Amino acid sequence: MREVFGDEFFKMKRGANMQKKKSSKSFKIPKTMKAWVLGDPNELKLTQKPVPEPGAAEVLVKVDAVAICGTDLEIFANGLPAMIEGGMPFNKNFTPGHEYMGTVVKLGPGVDEFKPGDRVTVEIHAGCGRCERCREGMYTSCLNYGMNYGDKNKGHRANGFTTDGAFAEYAVNSINTLVHVPDKMSDEEATLVVTAGTAMYGLDAMGGLIAGKGLVVTGPGPIGLMGVAVGKALGAQPVVLTGTRDSRLKLGKKLGADFVVNVRKENPVEAVKRITGGKGVHYVMECSGAPNALNEAAQMVNRGGRVCLAAFPHEPVPVDLAYLVRNNIYVYGIRGEGQSATHRAMAFMEQRRFDATIMHTHTFSFKEIPTAVKYARERIEDAIKVVVKMK
Ligand SMILES: [Zn+2]
Ligand SMILES: [Zn+2]
Repeated sequence: MREVFGDEFFKMKRGANMQKKKSSKSFKIPKTMKAWVLGDPNELKLTQKPVPEPGAAEVLVKVDAVAICGTDLEIFANGLPAMIEGGMPFNKNFTPGHEYMGTVVKLGPGVDEFKPGDRVTVEIHAGCGRCERCREGMYTSCLNYGMNYGDKNKGHRANGFTTDGAFAEYAVNSINTLVHVPDKMSDEEATLVVTAGTAMYGLDAMGGLIAGKGLVVTGPGPIGLMGVAVGKALGAQPVVLTGTRDSRLKLGKKLGADFVVNVRKENPVEAVKRITGGKGVHYVMECSGAPNALNEAAQMVNRGGRVCLAAFPHEPVPVDLAYLVRNNIYVYGIRGEGQSATHRAMAFMEQRRFDATIMHTHTFSFKEIPTAVKYARERIEDAIKVVVKMK
C-alpha cells in the first residue's frame, strides 16, 4: 500500500468532501403550503400558509407522517397545554401536530449536523437555552415556555404546542429536536419514537437503577404501553401492567409485561402484592389518569418507592399524603421527553428490543385529518395510534 502525504493527501480529502456535498440532495420548496389550523375548540380548518424559513440552528422538515396523540385531542378541546402568544391557541392560525417524522429539505445558517435528504423524527421541546432549567439540561421544563413571539421572543419552541406543528406540509425544527431515522425503519414506526422517549424520560425521572427492580405501569395507553416496553428493555423485573381492557393488556404482554392485571376483575393493589410475594415494587409509572391512581400506586410501591405521574385526572383529587410521608414515597411529575430520551428510545427501537409498530392501528391521508382525529378520539375500531401519511 502506498502512503500519501502533503498536497496529495489534502487534494484527496478535498475531493472526498466535494463528493459528500454533491451527494446531498437539493429540494424545490414552494412558497406556500397546505396546513390545518385550529379554529374554535374542536374545529380544524384547512388553509394555505407561507412555508416557514429555518433560522440559525434550525432546519426545514418536509413532513412525511404524523401521529395523533391524546394531548392533541386535549388541545383541540381545551386549549392547554398549547399556548400561542401567551394565551389559548384558538383562532390564532396555529397548526397543531407534534408526533411526526419527515425529510430535511433545507438548512438554516451554520447547520452541518444534518443534510438535505436526511430522514428524521422529532422530539417536541427545544428549550430557550438561556434559562436556569435549560442550563441544567431540563429543556422540557424551560422557564421561557411559550416565549417565542414579539418582544418577548426567547427562542423557545415546542412544535404543536407553542409553535406551528406538523398538520402541514412543512415544519421548522431546531436541530436539537431531531433524531436520525435508520433506513429500515418505516415512517409510521418513526412517529412513535417520541412516545417511547416520553416513557423513557418518566423512568429517568424516577432516578434509580431500573434493572432487576419491580415496575408497575398503570394504564395501557400509548405511553403506558411504551413504559412497559422501555422498562423491560432496561431490565425491570417483574414488569406488571394494569388496565381495564383485555385487548390492550394483551398488547402489553407482547411488549414485555410479565404480568397483566385487569382492574375490573381483580383489585390491582392486591394483585401486585400477590405477584411480588407481598413486597411491592420499587417503581410505578402512572399512565391512567384515574382519580385514585396515586393512592393505589402508593400502595403498590414498597417503603422508599417511587411513583412517576405521566397522566392526570381533570379534577383535583384527594390524596392520602400521610401515607406518602410515613413511607418516604417519592412522587415525580414529568412533562415531555427530556434528557434526549428520544435518542435512547430510538436506539432500543433500532435494535428491535421491542416492536412499537403493534401500537399503530390506523392510517389516513393528509386531507382526512379530521377523520383521523375522530378515530383517535372515539377509539373507533380500538384505535391506539392513528398515523397520517402525507402521501
Ligand atoms: Zn404526544
Ligand atoms: Zn429555557
